[in-house]
Amino acid sequence: MGSLKLLFFQQHQHSDVFTVLNRLISLYKIFTKKSILAISAHCCNTILLILTIKLAVMNSRRNFLQKMSTLAIALPLLNKYSLAKTHFTHKEKYDGPVLRVAIMGLGSYGTRVAEAMKDCTKAKLVGVISGTPAKIKDWQVKYNIPEKNCYNYENFDAIKNNPDIDAVYIITPNALHHDQAIRVAAAGKHVICEKPMAINAKEGQQMVDACKKANVKLLVGYRMHFEPKTLEVIRMRREGELGKILFFQGLCGFKIGDPTQWRLNKELSGGGSLMDIGIYAINGSRYMVGEEPVWVTAEATKTDAVKFKEGVDETIQFEFGFPSGAVASCLSTYNMNNLDRFFLNAEKGFAEMQPSTGYGPIKGRTNKGELNFPHVTHQTVQMDEMAGIILAGKQPPIPIDGEEAVKDLKIIDAIYLAIKKGKKIDLQL
Ligand code: NDP
Repeated sequence: MGSLKLLFFQQHQHSDVFTVLNRLISLYKIFTKKSILAISAHCCNTILLILTIKLAVMNSRRNFLQKMSTLAIALPLLNKYSLAKTHFTHKEKYDGPVLRVAIMGLGSYGTRVAEAMKDCTKAKLVGVISGTPAKIKDWQVKYNIPEKNCYNYENFDAIKNNPDIDAVYIITPNALHHDQAIRVAAAGKHVICEKPMAINAKEGQQMVDACKKANVKLLVGYRMHFEPKTLEVIRMRREGELGKILFFQGLCGFKIGDPTQWRLNKELSGGGSLMDIGIYAINGSRYMVGEEPVWVTAEATKTDAVKFKEGVDETIQFEFGFPSGAVASCLSTYNMNNLDRFFLNAEKGFAEMQPSTGYGPIKGRTNKGELNFPHVTHQTVQMDEMAGIILAGKQPPIPIDGEEAVKDLKIIDAIYLAIKKGKKIDLQL
């Protein structure tokens, strides 16, 4: 019995060992006469996959080489690219330019991004902008940030003179993004901005224009645009495997706590659940259906007018119509838990994801079965991909630029208008 060790350097940081193994087993027939007795796999830090193939029959060297060359032809199949896999990078092989990022707003999501960036290969946290000196001190120690890369909201325009920072990631309350992004752009730094990019389309467009004028990129933290299972559904839809798309359902919500938080203050949030969580259903409708909505209807419900004050929506149901005739029905709420579900119905199949937009693992299945792509830390992949977009002009699988965000903001404007007017609103994106 022969034993052969094959080393496969996965091109991707997060290789799907099980998918690879399944494919390998399906190659079993290439080694005829039941020559493979066992395949074992060891996954070393998810980068290097060592497969030990025990060969029962290895008659001659020639026989072996023939079979290996067949395997060599077949191996690319193991890495058969889906949309989902095109965006992972190999940590140890990368020696190109690195995007040096300062995070503005050291709150809960900013902290999550900073932690995730520890595993980035193309992006690095090098600076902070914060209104809280104690947090700055803490982050300096935690992330090894030099004093010269620390700013507050009053002095951050001086970042213009700092050659060691390429981009600022704005992770502050929604209503602050507009002015902050325009200042960052004026300082000549690329802007990465959290969703919602602004609190209405007009402000969003001004941000786009400011970044264009300053010749800097404007990207938005649409982390689902890099999520493997999401991308697999999009691939299936794009390649016609689902047939004509007919219906999308997006349910997004959670029960919000502390009534004093900025999310329930219109001045800082720009709205309520729709701005914060409903935007996932809005953006999701567009990338799942693959079209832009041409009309919207919406209805709002409020059960607690004290917690959800004027201009802060609690629950909104909204519907979209698309040029093909497909429709979408969505719900956005700050008053229900366990609401994180996408469902896509099409002539030849379906896709369902639950959870669909949380930090993961995302779970999903289609009419073809379970989606088995590995979980990735969304923010790590997002930041590496954004580095590729900014530094190397890489194209994302679904746009994540300011124009994309303005489309979502136009829809948000239209939803609020539909509620106010109590009628269907036509859209032109
Ligand atoms: P937090 O309240 O946890 O943090 C916001 C931070 O912004 C604060 O800690 C503070 O940091 C800074 N800040 C500046 N001005 C103010 C102000 N007037 N009031 C309150 N905070 C202020 O919010 P999140 O981190 O949860 O959300 C921030 C942004 O990120 C929002 O736009 C949100 O929609 C988005 N987000 C995106 C997520 C995603 O998955 N893509 C998930 C969660 C949030 P400092 O003290 O350093 O100044």
